[in-house]
Formats: sequence, structure tokens, C-alpha cells
Amino acid sequence: MSPTALVLADPRSPLGIRATLEALGAAEVLLAHHGGGKLVLGLLGHSLGALRETAAGWGADEVLLLDDARLAVFQAETYAWAAETIVKRLSSPTVVVLPGSTLGRELVGRLSARLRGGGTSEALELDLEDTGGIRVRRPLFGGKASETVSLPAPAVVSLRANAFAPPEPPRPSRVVPVLLPDPGAGSAGAHLLERLPVPVSDTPPLTQAPVVVSGGRGLHGPENWPLLEDLARALGAGLGASRAVVDAGWRPASEQVGQTGSSVSPQLYVAVGISGAIQHLVGMSSSRCIVAINTDPSAPIFKVADYGIVGDALVLLPPLTEAVRRVRAGVVP
Ligand SMILES: Cc1cc2nc3c(=O)[nH]c(=O)nc-3n(C[C@H](O)[C@H](O)[C@H](O)COP(=O)(O)OP(=O)(O)OC[C@H]3O[C@@H](n4cnc5c(N)ncnc54)[C@H](O)[C@@H]3O)c2cc1C
Repeated sequence: MSPTALVLADPRSPLGIRATLEALGAAEVLLAHHGGGKLVLGLLGHSLGALRETAAGWGADEVLLLDDARLAVFQAETYAWAAETIVKRLSSPTVVVLPGSTLGRELVGRLSARLRGGGTSEALELDLEDTGGIRVRRPLFGGKASETVSLPAPAVVSLRANAFAPPEPPRPSRVVPVLLPDPGAGSAGAHLLERLPVPVSDTPPLTQAPVVVSGGRGLHGPENWPLLEDLARALGAGLGASRAVVDAGWRPASEQVGQTGSSVSPQLYVAVGISGAIQHLVGMSSSRCIVAINTDPSAPIFKVADYGIVGDALVLLPPLTEAVRRVRAGVVP
């Protein structure tokens, strides 16, 4: 029997949509390596009108659409139940691929428990096994090492953000509505008591951002962070920090990159005034392209950097930001 891959969409934000396209790309390559198969996109939510048309062009063979008022607000338990409903519409999918977004990370454990199958997160590579299961490579020790695990079907796998390319070229799909059953034993066990507003930020979340700009003690104080924020804004980047600046109270712990912070693997990582201690490197050295700015030419960060600028960040950041703005605006310097 040819394999079936189900991708669950996270259409709640542009980053979620990008992560969904990466998941579709990963599933498409996986099936293509094994002579083809069926690629299904599960689209969950409420009032999905326009999105339903857009998602129908993302490259799946079929879109299973579950549009229900109970999905108007994201609640992991309710969404896991809805995702299970979609999985059960398919006759034994080989793999459920979840985007490398908060939705993917929230659902991977819950959905695999509901399906009584295997599950893992942060996948860097996927491969089908002859036995019908799936092989997944995932990072260990903050990206310093990796391991390959085998999961029986139906395997539930969430991806590492930015590790896979979107499908190319997308093609139109058939849209099939699915109904969420009445609440029963399998329905949500949690109830929403209160919603706390997330602080509004004009930079994308660190772990999903395709570009990250990080600052270290070389910025000499929190009063200089606007320089880094300007560069991040110009690049559409997420903001990161070394532990030294988090410990000093210059930046929140949520921005820390490294062994005891977040692991990131963006397309571009800009390290400003960061020495490149091993505990920082394990959280970012898998980035596709690394640019470092440091006054010390022998700083260890330059050993992993693709491009290095030796100089004072406080002097270099404003013209660099200006140059980025001009290039992005189409004005060649
Ligand atoms: C168990 C453990 C876990 C840890 N986990 C983490 C972690 O998760 N993440 C993490 O980052 N660290 C972690 N650390 C700390 C780590 O060892 C380093 O101390 C820390 O990364 C250093 O931060 P930094 O590079 O900002 O500061 P520094 O090491 O002080 O480096 C500052 C750099 O800025 C340069 N500089 C100075 N002035 C300028 C200027 N004007 N312009 C440009 N460059 C300038 C200097 O040349 C220097 O290279 C951990 C340590 C331990 C023991």
C-alpha cells in the first residue's frame, strides 16, 4: 500500500503558515523518495473562508477542512481531539507531520498519545522504513549531536523550524469538509478559564524566526539595545541574547540562546558582541549562515562564523542597519 502523509496546518500567523509550508515540503520529499503516496493537509479552525481557498493551493493532494466554532480559540486539548478526528478519516496514515511552530510542539505529545503511536519533535530529517514506520533524525544537547529514532506508524512528528523547504511548485488540491463529532468520551478535558494577553512584540518569536539577531556583553549595556532592535526590525529578525546579558538583567530569559536557553537554527544568525562560548554555540551553530561582529579578532565566535566583522558594534550597527534598509528597499548602495 502506498504511504499517506498528513500535515496539520498552523494557519494562525504568517510564521505558522511558513512552518506549515515547510511541513508540506518535508512530507512531499518523504513521499517522493519512496515512489509517491498521498499528501493530505488537515486545516483546523473557525471561519476559515479565505484561508480555505489559499490552503487549497499549497500543494497537498487533498485538504481535509474542519471548520468549527469550538476551534475558534486555540486550546491544545480541543485541537488534539480535532486532529485525531481528521487522522481517523484517513485509512492508516503512515505519518502525521506537524509544523515547527507552537501548535506543532503543543500537539505532538497529545496527538501521539491519542493515536497510541510514537511521536517526536524537532525533526531534522525524515525517512520511511521498509517496515512501514518512519525514521527521524532529531537534535540532542542543543544541536551539538543528533540521534536517529524509529517510530511505528502512525508516527506523529513535529519539525524543527527552518529545517525544510516549502513544496515546489505548489499545486491545487481538492477540499473535503470534515465534521467534529459531538463531545463524547474523547472530547476536550480542559476548559478555558482565562486568557492572558501575550506582550506585543514587533519581532518574530526567537525559535521560529528565519533570521535572528543576538546581542552579548559587547553591547556594554541595555541602553544600547535599540541599536540591535533597529537591525532586527530592518531584517525582520527575532531577538536573541547571550546568557551573560540575561544574567545581568539586560534582557529577558526568553531571549537566551544556548545550552540553558533556546536552540535556534535560522537561515541567518547575527551575533553582535558575543564571544562565542561553547554554551552559546551549541544553541546556534546549526544556523545556515552566521555573521559575527566583535572587537576581538581572536574571539571564538569567528571560528563558526561564515562572515566576520572585526570592529566596535556600537559604531557599526547604525550604518549596517541603514545599509540593510536601503538594500531591502531596492536602493543599491
Ligand atoms: C552551565 C552553563 C550554561 C551556560 N549556558 C549558556 C547559554 O545557554 N547561553 C549563553 O550564551 N551562555 C551560556 N553560558 C555562559 C557562557 O559560558 C558565557 O559566559 C556567555 O555566553 C558569555 O556571554 P557574552 O559572549 O555575551 O559575554 P563575553 O564572554 O563577556 O563576551 C563579550 C564579547 O564582546 C566583545 N566586545 C566587547 N566590546 C565590543 C564592542 N564594542 N563591539 C563588538 N564586540 C565587543 C568582546 O570581545 C567579547 O568577545 C553558560 C555557562 C555555563 C557554565
